Amino acid sequence: MLLLKSIKGGLLLCLIFSLYNAGTMVVSKKMHTTSFTPRKHQPPILCYHNIYVKPPQEDQLWISVNHLEQQLKMLRDSGYSTVLPEDIYQHFTSGIPLPQKAVTITFDDGHAQHFSLVAPLLSKYGFKAVFFIPTAFIGKKYYLTEKEIRILADSGHTIGCHTYDHPSLASAKTDWNKQLDYSRQQLEKITGQQVYYFAYPYGSWTDSAISQLKARHFRAAFQLTGKPSSADALFTLKRLMISGAWTPDELMQKLKIIFPN
Ligand SMILES: [Zn+2]
Repeated sequence: MLLLKSIKGGLLLCLIFSLYNAGTMVVSKKMHTTSFTPRKHQPPILCYHNIYVKPPQEDQLWISVNHLEQQLKMLRDSGYSTVLPEDIYQHFTSGIPLPQKAVTITFDDGHAQHFSLVAPLLSKYGFKAVFFIPTAFIGKKYYLTEKEIRILADSGHTIGCHTYDHPSLASAKTDWNKQLDYSRQQLEKITGQQVYYFAYPYGSWTDSAISQLKARHFRAAFQLTGKPSSADALFTLKRLMISGAWTPDELMQKLKIIFPN
């Protein structure tokens, strides 16, 4: 009797276990059909610095507003739409697809012309961009004011952290609280929005910088064209510094080389 009971109990357990397994199989099959494997493929990311009506020269640090407009027009006419860091983060972590022709446009260092010259152009072409701002520069001559940064954020552009006073993070003496926590708090106070994205000054990323960013729940970080980390692609997103001397066609060719599909 006892033996029969234990056999029955064993069969019942087996049945429950099989049903449980069948249930999880159905769920996982369902999940498989409703989601998909993230491609984890970054879009082309453009990086600009000084935008002037008449710059002293045209290179990867300086571009005339006319040439910037030609480049933006080419991207729009070629069918590109802009995606923001949040879109890239969602793409990498949840597999949410990016548009076929996605591009991210970033402006570094908080120059005053990013508000006076760049923002109206972005609006003209229906683009949103990212502004990485070292907070020690805010309100200084030739740099963005708090009010301008707030307007950029309110217009749907992303405001990103670019440290307090733009040191190379390769130094062992980096004051992480000042460069990451304090500068981020300043931007969040100005914009009233949370700041999750970071650009390494000079593009120089290190493993310890990645650890510090992750410990503070930053979601992604942008370098320049250095080798990305295979373990941390989201924290070493590649950006190409765009030269004012390139024609729109040259820009397109470089994008295809640096950001192959
Ligand atoms: Zn910078």
